[in-house]
Amino acid sequence: SKINRPIKDDFDDDELVAYAENLENIPEKILLKEDRKKKDIENNPLYKYRHGILSVSDISSQIWCEQQLTYKFLYPFILNDDGEIKRVDDKIHMLRGTSLHLDRELEIQIKVSIECQTREDSYGIRLLNMIQAIHGLLTWNKLDQPYITREMPIFGNMYEGKLYFRGIIDEINYDPRTNQLEVVEFKTRASKTTPKPQQTYTHKIQVNIYRTLLDELIQGQVDKTLYFQRFNLEPTTILSDSILNQYNQCGFTQINTLENAFDLLIKLAFQMPTITTNGAIEYILQSDPTWKNRKEFDRDENNLKELLIKSEGYWLGKREAEGVDIEDAYKCQWCDYKEMCTWREEKSNEFSRKKRRIN
Ligand code: SF4
Repeated sequence: SKINRPIKDDFDDDELVAYAENLENIPEKILLKEDRKKKDIENNPLYKYRHGILSVSDISSQIWCEQQLTYKFLYPFILNDDGEIKRVDDKIHMLRGTSLHLDRELEIQIKVSIECQTREDSYGIRLLNMIQAIHGLLTWNKLDQPYITREMPIFGNMYEGKLYFRGIIDEINYDPRTNQLEVVEFKTRASKTTPKPQQTYTHKIQVNIYRTLLDELIQGQVDKTLYFQRFNLEPTTILSDSILNQYNQCGFTQINTLENAFDLLIKLAFQMPTITTNGAIEYILQSDPTWKNRKEFDRDENNLKELLIKSEGYWLGKREAEGVDIEDAYKCQWCDYKEMCTWREEKSNEFSRKKRRIN
């Protein structure tokens, strides 16, 4: 049926229903404020490319070059010099890095395959991995040796911000003698050269995000409702038998639903003896993993907060992507998108114009 298309924001209920039913046919210029907001949300990079949840490495990629990150979303495949179509991130050194991470994990823990039937099941396993890591620390009885756990999932929205994160912490160390809790990030290197300061900076940010997420978990600053909403999970669904068996085998017998598992995690995390005291990056040589270069550093909370505010602008679609500054132009030489990058072209033209003016 034909309706009058409203051009104002104050409707009565009937008008609203008619309006909502015909929303798809209404031209952009007369969309309601709320619909515009909805459209903006659906169109922003956070929802369009990440379904509302960022991985911690998204922030590292963003710090490296936001424009490159956007190109990766838009054009994830490239034609290499041999004429093969490749995923941009499928570089040999990246695959080698993944395999070294796995080797390190297997040094101290075993992997078990578990069949999942629902999304809730697979999140039940993620929560179990976290529960086991924290329970292991709480029950550690070798008081003269540090406790180590690797590849622990983590999630949360730092400082109650609008961005929601998920990630995997490479290593958590707890030393019972000193009550020190440390988060470590492994990075593999193709050569023994010192990483550039900009590379180290992105790695430090990554560690600081993990530290903050872990500390918020330990301090009980996690919103249960938000967790289920963001991951689109039904908290009261009964987990499959395969998952419940796994919980039972690990000694957690009171679990039936994802919500039970979540509550147990929060309860255990709250019993942790300390929040994180240290952060470190361990660089490992790909060709010889016994070669290591370790860097420890303090947390810079203000820097992280400022960075998150800037990041939000991009992810929430409030500003366009930015490429690298002229002093970081060295990054462009390894970039798969350098031939098509409009930011690079614009900066290079700007630079030439300035040079001409000086001459
Ligand atoms: Fe970023 Fe440079 Fe690549 Fe452009 S060419 S996407 S500015 S790294």
